[in-house]
Amino acid sequence: MSDPCDRCEEMMQPYLDGALSEAEVAEAEEHLERCKWCAKRYRFEERLRHYVRVELSEPMRPELKAKLAALRTPL
Ligand SMILES: [Zn+2]
Repeated sequence: MSDPCDRCEEMMQPYLDGALSEAEVAEAEEHLERCKWCAKRYRFEERLRHYVRVELSEPMRPELKAKLAALRTPL
């Protein structure tokens, strides 16, 4: 199976970690330009990461964990 969106999703975590090669970044960004769905997912994940970083300065509350788990449910 070679769904470009699956490939794009695989690259999302390393992309946000800055762990992709230049070629892979270019590949991901090319797809993001054409695919609104993936672009939305990347933006969402970025916001989520930022939110988690801020929240992690204090202990993770169970209700927050549940909230994040719900947010992560695929569309
Ligand atoms: Zn896509």
